[in-house]
Amino acid sequence: MPKISHFECSRCKKTVAADKPQTVCPECAGSLYVRYDLSPGAGTAARDAIACERGYYAWPGMWRYRAVLPDVTPVTLGEGWTPMLRSKRYANAFVKEEGANPTGKL
Ligand SMILES: [Zn+2]
Repeated sequence: MPKISHFECSRCKKTVAADKPQTVCPECAGSLYVRYDLSPGAGTAARDAIACERGYYAWPGMWRYRAVLPDVTPVTLGEGWTPMLRSKRYANAFVKEEGANPTGKL
């Protein structure tokens, strides 16, 4: 998994340390982009990294892509693996049923 390197302001480009959670720039309140240290994965295709971890980490849903997600402890509500449904209107068309993802609303 790539480590978070720092945050970068989307407005003023200020570099902000990522040692504490924050979402806006302390200078201008612009949204912060998360920047990753991708150097350890240089030369390895994300597809290959995901394939290598597939059998080792039995994470379902989006966490099966851990190799290219932030280096954090996974938390999941069971999202992902939503079904593809055949369209009743268009032959040979499928619709991804994302409504099956948990929303946190009751
Ligand atoms: Zn800023």
